[in-house]
Amino acid sequence: MERFEVNILGCGSALPTTKHFLSSQVVNLRDKLFMIDCGEGAQLQFRAMKLNFQKLNHIFISHLHGDHCFGLPGLISTLGLLGRTANLYVHAHPDAEKIFEPQLQYFCKMLPYKVYFHSFNPQKSELIFEDKSLKVTTIPLKHRVPSAGFLFEEKPKSPHIIREMIDFYHVPVSQIRAIKEGAPFVTGEGETIPNKVFTRPAEPPHKYAYCSDTAYYEKIIPIIADVNVLYHEATFSNADLARATETFHSSAAQAASIAKAANAGRLIIGHFSARYPNEQILLNEALEIFPQTQPAYEKMILKV
Ligand SMILES: [Zn+2]
Ligand SMILES: [Zn+2]
Repeated sequence: MERFEVNILGCGSALPTTKHFLSSQVVNLRDKLFMIDCGEGAQLQFRAMKLNFQKLNHIFISHLHGDHCFGLPGLISTLGLLGRTANLYVHAHPDAEKIFEPQLQYFCKMLPYKVYFHSFNPQKSELIFEDKSLKVTTIPLKHRVPSAGFLFEEKPKSPHIIREMIDFYHVPVSQIRAIKEGAPFVTGEGETIPNKVFTRPAEPPHKYAYCSDTAYYEKIIPIIADVNVLYHEATFSNADLARATETFHSSAAQAASIAKAANAGRLIIGHFSARYPNEQILLNEALEIFPQTQPAYEKMILKV
Protein backbone atom coordinates (compact mmCIF):
# COMPACT_ATOMS: atom_id res chain seq x y z
CA MET A 1 0.00 0.00 0.00
CA GLU A 2 1.17 3.49 -0.76
CA ARG A 3 2.19 5.70 2.09
CA PHE A 4 -0.56 7.75 3.74
CA GLU A 5 0.48 8.75 7.25
CA VAL A 6 -0.16 11.50 9.73
CA ASN A 7 2.71 12.69 11.94
CA ILE A 8 1.59 14.34 15.17
CA LEU A 9 3.94 17.22 15.96
CA GLY A 10 1.86 18.63 18.80
CA CYS A 11 -1.48 17.87 20.43
CA GLY A 12 -1.78 20.23 23.40
CA SER A 13 -4.11 23.22 23.59
CA ALA A 14 -3.52 26.89 24.34
CA LEU A 15 -0.64 26.61 26.79
CA PRO A 16 2.71 25.11 25.73
CA THR A 17 3.85 22.76 28.48
CA THR A 18 6.78 20.44 28.98
CA LYS A 19 4.38 17.63 28.14
CA HIS A 20 2.71 18.84 24.97
CA PHE A 21 3.59 20.93 21.97
CA LEU A 22 0.81 22.93 20.35
CA SER A 23 -1.34 21.85 17.42
CA SER A 24 0.56 20.80 14.35
CA GLN A 25 0.54 17.72 12.15
CA VAL A 26 2.15 16.64 8.93
CA VAL A 27 0.25 14.48 6.46
CA ASN A 28 2.61 12.37 4.37
CA LEU A 29 0.97 11.13 1.19
CA ARG A 30 3.38 9.25 -1.05
CA ASP A 31 6.28 11.31 0.35
CA LYS A 32 4.68 14.69 -0.25
CA LEU A 33 4.23 16.56 3.02
CA PHE A 34 1.28 18.75 3.98
CA MET A 35 1.30 20.58 7.30
CA ILE A 36 -1.92 21.15 9.23
CA ASP A 37 -1.65 23.99 11.74
CA CYS A 38 1.64 25.37 12.92
CA GLY A 39 1.67 26.00 16.65
CA GLU A 40 4.77 27.34 18.36
CA GLY A 41 7.62 24.83 18.19
CA ALA A 42 6.24 22.98 15.15
CA GLN A 43 9.52 23.36 13.26
CA LEU A 44 11.45 21.74 16.12
CA GLN A 45 9.11 18.77 16.12
CA PHE A 46 9.33 18.61 12.33
CA ARG A 47 13.10 18.23 12.71
CA ALA A 48 12.80 15.82 15.62
CA MET A 49 10.57 13.56 13.51
CA LYS A 50 13.19 13.65 10.75
CA LEU A 51 10.75 14.98 8.18
CA ASN A 52 12.21 16.57 5.06
CA PHE A 53 11.65 20.34 4.81
CA GLN A 54 12.05 20.18 1.04
CA LYS A 55 9.00 17.95 0.68
CA LEU A 56 6.76 20.51 2.38
CA ASN A 57 4.97 22.87 -0.01
CA HIS A 58 1.55 23.42 1.53
CA ILE A 59 0.48 24.51 5.01
CA PHE A 60 -3.18 24.51 6.05
CA ILE A 61 -4.17 26.68 9.02
CA SER A 62 -7.49 25.82 10.67
CA HIS A 63 -8.00 29.16 12.42
CA LEU A 64 -6.17 32.18 13.69
CA HIS A 65 -5.71 31.35 17.33
CA GLY A 66 -2.09 31.56 18.44
CA ASP A 67 -1.82 27.91 19.45
CA HIS A 68 -2.44 26.98 15.79
CA CYS A 69 -0.30 29.54 13.97
CA PHE A 70 2.39 31.18 16.15
CA GLY A 71 4.94 28.78 14.65
CA LEU A 72 4.40 30.03 11.12
CA PRO A 73 6.79 33.04 10.90
CA GLY A 74 9.57 31.03 12.55
CA LEU A 75 9.13 28.12 10.18
CA ILE A 76 9.02 30.40 7.13
CA SER A 77 12.19 32.14 8.29
CA THR A 78 13.99 28.82 8.87
CA LEU A 79 13.05 27.54 5.41
CA GLY A 80 14.72 30.67 4.04
CA LEU A 81 17.89 30.06 6.08
CA LEU A 82 17.96 26.54 4.69
CA GLY A 83 18.11 28.01 1.19
CA ARG A 84 14.66 27.07 -0.02
CA THR A 85 13.77 28.33 -3.49
CA ALA A 86 10.43 26.56 -4.13
CA ASN A 87 7.19 28.44 -3.51
CA LEU A 88 5.36 27.80 -0.25
CA TYR A 89 1.56 27.97 -0.09
CA VAL A 90 -0.31 28.83 3.09
CA HIS A 91 -4.03 28.06 3.00
CA ALA A 92 -5.88 30.00 5.67
CA HIS A 93 -8.55 32.52 6.62
CA PRO A 94 -8.15 35.78 4.63
CA ASP A 95 -6.83 37.58 7.74
CA ALA A 96 -3.74 35.36 7.79
CA GLU A 97 -2.14 37.31 4.98
CA LYS A 98 -2.89 40.63 6.72
CA ILE A 99 -1.32 39.37 9.94
CA PHE A 100 1.73 37.52 8.65
CA GLU A 101 2.72 39.48 5.55
CA PRO A 102 3.98 42.53 7.54
CA GLN A 103 5.93 40.19 9.85
CA LEU A 104 7.58 38.51 6.87
CA GLN A 105 8.39 41.88 5.35
CA TYR A 106 10.03 42.97 8.58
CA PHE A 107 11.86 39.79 9.57
CA CYS A 108 12.36 37.94 6.28
CA LYS A 109 13.44 40.64 3.83
CA MET A 110 15.94 38.39 2.10
CA LEU A 111 13.68 35.34 1.84
CA PRO A 112 14.98 33.35 -1.17
CA TYR A 113 11.54 31.94 -2.01
CA LYS A 114 7.96 33.16 -2.30
CA VAL A 115 5.15 32.62 0.18
CA TYR A 116 1.65 32.72 -1.27
CA PHE A 117 -1.40 32.98 0.96
CA HIS A 118 -4.44 31.22 -0.46
CA SER A 119 -7.52 32.23 1.47
CA PHE A 120 -10.64 30.19 1.98
CA ASN A 121 -14.01 30.89 3.53
CA PRO A 122 -14.19 28.77 6.71
CA GLN A 123 -17.98 28.98 6.66
CA LYS A 124 -18.48 26.61 3.73
CA SER A 125 -17.04 23.30 2.68
CA GLU A 126 -14.91 23.77 -0.42
CA LEU A 127 -12.16 22.05 -2.34
CA ILE A 128 -9.02 24.07 -1.63
CA PHE A 129 -6.25 21.84 -2.97
CA GLU A 130 -6.00 19.11 -5.56
CA ASP A 131 -3.23 17.25 -7.33
CA LYS A 132 -3.12 13.94 -9.11
CA SER A 133 -3.31 11.86 -5.95
CA LEU A 134 -5.04 14.03 -3.34
CA LYS A 135 -7.98 16.35 -2.66
CA VAL A 136 -8.22 18.63 0.38
CA THR A 137 -11.65 19.95 1.34
CA THR A 138 -12.48 22.30 4.20
CA ILE A 139 -14.84 21.27 7.01
CA PRO A 140 -16.65 24.29 8.54
CA LEU A 141 -16.37 24.09 12.33
CA LYS A 142 -18.00 25.93 15.22
CA HIS A 143 -15.53 27.93 17.28
CA ARG A 144 -15.09 31.40 18.82
CA VAL A 145 -13.42 32.60 15.64
CA PRO A 146 -13.95 31.28 12.09
CA SER A 147 -12.43 27.79 12.01
CA ALA A 148 -12.24 24.99 9.47
CA GLY A 149 -11.06 21.42 9.59
CA PHE A 150 -9.58 19.60 6.62
CA LEU A 151 -10.54 16.42 4.83
CA PHE A 152 -7.61 14.74 3.08
CA GLU A 153 -8.90 12.32 0.50
CA GLU A 154 -6.87 10.11 -1.80
CA LYS A 155 -8.06 10.04 -5.38
CA PRO A 156 -9.25 6.67 -6.70
CA LYS A 157 -6.32 4.61 -7.89
CA SER A 158 -6.09 2.71 -11.17
CA PRO A 159 -6.87 -1.00 -10.94
CA HIS A 160 -4.00 -3.48 -10.75
CA ILE A 161 -3.05 -5.21 -13.98
CA ILE A 162 -2.91 -9.02 -13.91
CA ARG A 163 0.38 -9.63 -15.68
CA GLU A 164 -0.24 -13.30 -16.49
CA MET A 165 -3.45 -12.50 -18.39
CA ILE A 166 -1.75 -9.72 -20.34
CA ASP A 167 0.89 -12.25 -21.38
CA PHE A 168 -1.66 -14.97 -22.07
CA TYR A 169 -3.64 -12.82 -24.54
CA HIS A 170 -0.48 -11.15 -25.93
CA VAL A 171 -1.86 -7.70 -25.17
CA PRO A 172 0.41 -5.10 -26.80
CA VAL A 173 2.05 -2.58 -24.45
CA SER A 174 0.29 0.24 -26.31
CA GLN A 175 -3.10 -1.01 -25.03
CA ILE A 176 -2.26 -1.43 -21.37
CA ARG A 177 -3.12 2.15 -20.50
CA ALA A 178 -6.61 1.78 -22.02
CA ILE A 179 -7.11 -1.45 -20.07
CA LYS A 180 -6.09 0.31 -16.84
CA GLU A 181 -8.80 2.85 -17.64
CA GLY A 182 -11.44 0.14 -18.07
CA ALA A 183 -11.39 -0.81 -21.77
CA PRO A 184 -11.94 -4.42 -22.93
CA PHE A 185 -9.40 -6.09 -25.25
CA VAL A 186 -10.18 -7.35 -28.75
CA THR A 187 -7.94 -10.23 -29.88
CA GLY A 188 -6.53 -10.67 -33.39
CA GLU A 189 -9.38 -13.12 -34.04
CA GLY A 190 -11.95 -10.45 -33.15
CA GLU A 191 -12.88 -11.93 -29.78
CA THR A 192 -13.71 -9.34 -27.09
CA ILE A 193 -12.21 -10.15 -23.69
CA PRO A 194 -13.86 -8.20 -20.84
CA ASN A 195 -11.74 -5.80 -18.82
CA LYS A 196 -12.19 -7.72 -15.55
CA VAL A 197 -10.08 -10.57 -16.93
CA PHE A 198 -7.05 -8.26 -16.92
CA THR A 199 -7.57 -6.19 -13.78
CA ARG A 200 -8.02 -6.42 -10.03
CA PRO A 201 -9.73 -3.46 -8.33
CA ALA A 202 -7.40 -1.09 -6.48
CA GLU A 203 -7.90 -0.54 -2.75
CA PRO A 204 -10.61 2.02 -2.01
CA PRO A 205 -9.21 5.54 -1.50
CA HIS A 206 -8.42 6.41 2.11
CA LYS A 207 -9.63 9.52 3.95
CA TYR A 208 -8.35 11.49 6.92
CA ALA A 209 -10.25 14.28 8.67
CA TYR A 210 -8.80 16.88 11.05
CA CYS A 211 -11.39 18.70 13.19
CA SER A 212 -9.92 21.21 15.62
CA ASP A 213 -10.88 23.61 17.14
CA THR A 214 -14.60 23.11 17.43
CA ALA A 215 -17.55 22.82 19.73
CA TYR A 216 -19.78 19.76 19.27
CA TYR A 217 -21.12 20.29 15.78
CA GLU A 218 -23.26 17.70 14.04
CA LYS A 219 -23.17 19.47 10.70
CA ILE A 220 -19.70 18.06 10.06
CA ILE A 221 -20.94 14.47 10.15
CA PRO A 222 -21.94 14.12 6.47
CA ILE A 223 -18.67 15.72 5.35
CA ILE A 224 -16.50 13.32 7.33
CA ALA A 225 -18.68 10.23 6.86
CA ASP A 226 -16.73 6.95 6.60
CA VAL A 227 -13.27 8.47 7.07
CA ASN A 228 -10.62 5.91 7.91
CA VAL A 229 -9.19 8.13 10.64
CA LEU A 230 -10.75 11.13 12.38
CA TYR A 231 -8.67 13.48 14.53
CA HIS A 232 -11.13 15.42 16.68
CA GLU A 233 -10.32 17.80 19.46
CA ALA A 234 -11.21 16.61 22.96
CA THR A 235 -10.08 19.52 25.06
CA PHE A 236 -12.19 18.80 28.14
CA SER A 237 -13.69 16.00 30.21
CA ASN A 238 -17.39 15.59 31.02
CA ALA A 239 -16.83 17.30 34.37
CA ASP A 240 -15.81 20.48 32.52
CA LEU A 241 -18.57 20.41 29.91
CA ALA A 242 -19.74 23.90 30.85
CA ARG A 243 -16.24 25.21 30.18
CA ALA A 244 -16.18 23.36 26.84
CA THR A 245 -19.46 24.94 25.78
CA GLU A 246 -18.39 28.41 26.91
CA THR A 247 -15.10 28.26 24.99
CA PHE A 248 -16.49 26.48 21.89
CA HIS A 249 -14.47 23.35 22.46
CA SER A 250 -15.50 19.69 22.70
CA SER A 251 -15.39 17.09 25.40
CA ALA A 252 -13.88 13.68 24.72
CA ALA A 253 -17.37 12.14 24.82
CA GLN A 254 -18.60 14.63 22.22
CA ALA A 255 -15.65 13.80 19.96
CA ALA A 256 -16.53 10.13 20.31
CA SER A 257 -20.20 10.77 19.49
CA ILE A 258 -19.16 12.53 16.29
CA ALA A 259 -16.83 9.64 15.34
CA LYS A 260 -19.62 7.14 15.95
CA ALA A 261 -22.23 9.07 13.98
CA ALA A 262 -19.78 9.56 11.10
CA ASN A 263 -18.90 5.84 11.06
CA ALA A 264 -15.20 6.67 11.33
CA GLY A 265 -12.75 3.78 11.27
CA ARG A 266 -10.70 5.20 14.14
CA LEU A 267 -10.79 8.27 16.34
CA ILE A 268 -7.68 10.07 17.56
CA ILE A 269 -8.39 12.59 20.29
CA GLY A 270 -6.14 15.58 20.93
CA HIS A 271 -5.90 19.31 21.70
CA PHE A 272 -5.72 18.37 25.36
CA SER A 273 -6.20 21.00 28.03
CA ALA A 274 -3.18 21.44 30.29
CA ARG A 275 -5.49 21.11 33.31
CA TYR A 276 -5.45 17.28 33.17
CA PRO A 277 -2.37 15.58 34.62
CA ASN A 278 -2.91 12.77 32.11
CA GLU A 279 -5.32 12.06 29.33
CA GLN A 280 -6.61 8.74 30.67
CA ILE A 281 -9.80 10.36 31.93
CA LEU A 282 -10.48 11.79 28.47
CA LEU A 283 -9.67 8.49 26.79
CA ASN A 284 -11.98 6.54 29.13
CA GLU A 285 -14.87 8.88 28.45
CA ALA A 286 -14.39 8.55 24.69
CA LEU A 287 -13.96 4.76 24.81
CA GLU A 288 -17.37 4.35 26.43
CA ILE A 289 -18.96 5.71 23.27
CA PHE A 290 -16.47 4.80 20.56
CA PRO A 291 -14.15 1.85 21.28
CA GLN A 292 -11.76 2.56 18.38
CA THR A 293 -10.33 5.63 20.12
CA GLN A 294 -6.68 6.42 20.81
CA PRO A 295 -5.14 9.50 22.39
CA ALA A 296 -2.71 11.51 20.28
CA TYR A 297 0.86 12.03 21.52
CA GLU A 298 3.86 13.89 20.21
CA LYS A 299 5.80 12.03 17.51
CA MET A 300 2.92 9.60 16.94
CA ILE A 301 2.77 8.30 13.36
CA LEU A 302 -0.69 7.22 12.28
CA LYS A 303 -1.29 5.03 9.27
CA VAL A 304 -4.49 6.17 7.56
ZN1 LIG B 1 -6.56 25.59 19.90
ZN1 LIG C 1 -9.00 27.96 18.91
